[in-house]
Amino acid sequence: MSVPSEIRRFRKDLKEARAASPGEVAKRLPAFECVRCAKCCRGAFGDNTVTAFPGEIRTIMAAIGREWLDIVEPEVAAADGGCDVDRYGNRHAFEWALRKKPDGDCIFLEDGRCVVYEVRHWICRTYPFYLDEIRTGHGECDGLPGAEKSADLAMAEALIARRVAELEESIALLERLDMEAGRGHSGAIVVHDSEGSRLVFERGGRMTFHRKSR
Ligand code: SF4
Repeated sequence: MSVPSEIRRFRKDLKEARAASPGEVAKRLPAFECVRCAKCCRGAFGDNTVTAFPGEIRTIMAAIGREWLDIVEPEVAAADGGCDVDRYGNRHAFEWALRKKPDGDCIFLEDGRCVVYEVRHWICRTYPFYLDEIRTGHGECDGLPGAEKSADLAMAEALIARRVAELEESIALLERLDMEAGRGHSGAIVVHDSEGSRLVFERGGRMTFHRKSR
């Protein structure tokens, strides 16, 4: 699918997401109660990758006084195990992911608690649920099924807001997409997001930006 047609599709989805009724979404959510197992934050229980948008990363940077690359790294693991490599030898990534500790746990998990809980990302705030188009879905979670309870309107509102944010991010990314951004370099990871393209180099086990432009 071409970039313009992808943008058109995302714009249509965005219109639907903005018009979604929290009450209707809430009715479709199964009963859920967080049992505070923190399995969703740990590497030992499956894929705990948490992707993050530029705005979410900046919120955490401001809250804890850390730099961009202290918090996230390029998400280069595509579903098929590969990723886009350009003619200069640079890899391309289309998302940022929260860094993990050597054991695979999220870097913000300390003693079973999230140390950025108040400013955590959409994915963490809405886990285990997500909206796919306007259908609800959920991942594996010990809190499902939870005790019977009334429809969770706050969760439904958060899911709609997350879906809107995801679509806005995707549209802005595609509008700024420059697959030639790595020209003149080799061995970089070119990360594309809603703010443009950024070159990251891995040297001596550390990641650094080519340009400090953000
Ligand atoms: S940011 Fe917090 S809630 Fe999200 S995966 Fe990390 S520790 Fe868990």
